[in-house]
Amino acid sequence: MLIVYCQDKNIGDVVEVWGQEPEVVTTSPGAPPSDALVLFDGSSWEAWEHKNDGKPVKWNLVGGAGVVLPGSGYIQTKQSFGSCQLHIEWRAPMDTAGLTSQGRGNSGVFLQSNYEVQILDSYRNKTYNNGQAASIYKQHIPLVNATGPPGAWQIYDIIFTAPTFNDDETLENPAFFTVFHNGVLVQNHVDVKGVTVNKGKPYYEKHGPRPLSLQDHGNTMAFRNIWIREL
Ligand code: MG
Repeated sequence: MLIVYCQDKNIGDVVEVWGQEPEVVTTSPGAPPSDALVLFDGSSWEAWEHKNDGKPVKWNLVGGAGVVLPGSGYIQTKQSFGSCQLHIEWRAPMDTAGLTSQGRGNSGVFLQSNYEVQILDSYRNKTYNNGQAASIYKQHIPLVNATGPPGAWQIYDIIFTAPTFNDDETLENPAFFTVFHNGVLVQNHVDVKGVTVNKGKPYYEKHGPRPLSLQDHGNTMAFRNIWIREL
């Protein structure tokens, strides 16, 4: 590769770099970028399996979306990932009768099966702030609440930096999240304290690339248009 550094004779600093062409990526509105790996396009769960037993996904396919089959369990990608850009669209059920707080429109997307970006119907639905939609569950409150009404599609664009570990298995660098909810910045390069836990303190345990997983929390959440770009 030819790299030419050009100097501005008046300033003396390097001001131009040639020969390090970024890869060309083509885009069109609403479609995954050309270099993305499509994980779910609404037509099949072939890139996924159930987390507990590795069996084919039982979640439903309805009108171009995938819908949680309550009680069937979490699903995960067959492939493992490290740092990535993830796009995922989700929708909470319209019927909210009798459902409140964490019981209403709950799911979650777990990066590396460990670190949860909460999915919740947080439209006029009070809950603990570090457990509402777009929180890093029980770790970071979102900057704002950008949740639309139940029945409306919601978009998360997530930039995840995987944690790194030393040879002695101690943590070298924590994971980081940046998250946009419906295009609005809600997590700005926040550090992850460790594996998402419901009770007690998050902790780190050395690992490499791991699958992406989606939570069955008993609600008929819908998903569509899931794609990933490895970083
Ligand atoms: Mg959840």
